[in-house]
Amino acid sequence: MGEVPIETLRVAIRSLHGVEATWLESVPVHETFQSETVWQGEVQVFELHKHPSARLCFAWSHEVAGSDGRRFVAVLAQGPIDSPEAAVRAAILQEARERGGLTCPVCGYPKLREPPYTAESGGSFEICPSCGIQFGYMDARDDLREEVYRRWREAWEAGERKPLGMEEAKRVMRIVVTSQGPPDSN
Ligand SMILES: [Zn+2]
Repeated sequence: MGEVPIETLRVAIRSLHGVEATWLESVPVHETFQSETVWQGEVQVFELHKHPSARLCFAWSHEVAGSDGRRFVAVLAQGPIDSPEAAVRAAILQEARERGGLTCPVCGYPKLREPPYTAESGGSFEICPSCGIQFGYMDARDDLREEVYRRWREAWEAGERKPLGMEEAKRVMRIVVTSQGPPDSN
C-alpha cells in the first residue's frame, strides 16, 4: 500500500478527532489470520494535544478498492486498543462490519456488530447501543416486526433519542400488540 506524507495524516487526525497531533514514530505492522497476511504496512504513532480521552493516536491510510480515493484511518489509543497492532485489528473488524447489513433498522445506527437478522442466526440478540432495541427479542414476531420498529423509532425520538430502557420497551410492545391483536385473531 502506498504511503502518504505525515502531514497528510496530521490533517486527517485533526479532521477526524478535532485536535492537533505530533508525530512520534513509525511502526511496521504485519497482521496475519491463520497464517495469511491480512494487513501489512506502517502505522504512524501520534501524540494528541488536549484530547479529552486519549493521549496517542494510530494512523495510516490505504487505497479504496475500486476507486481512486484513499481512506484515512486514525484510531485513538484507548480501552483495549493499546498498540499499533490492536489498532489495525480494530480497524479491520470495523471495515468488515461497515460493508453492509449492520445498520439499525430502527434508528439508523450504522455500526451494529452483527446484522440484525440473517437466515442462519434468526435474530442477533444484539442490543442497539443507540436506541436500545434487542434484535431477535423485542422484534421476534415476524408479523409485528415492522410495527415494532415504527413504534420504537417514535418512542426513541420522543425521548430525545436516548436508548429505551426495559420499561419503555414493555410499553412499546403493549402498544404494538394491542393495536395489532394476536395473529390467530385476524
Ligand atoms: Zn438502533
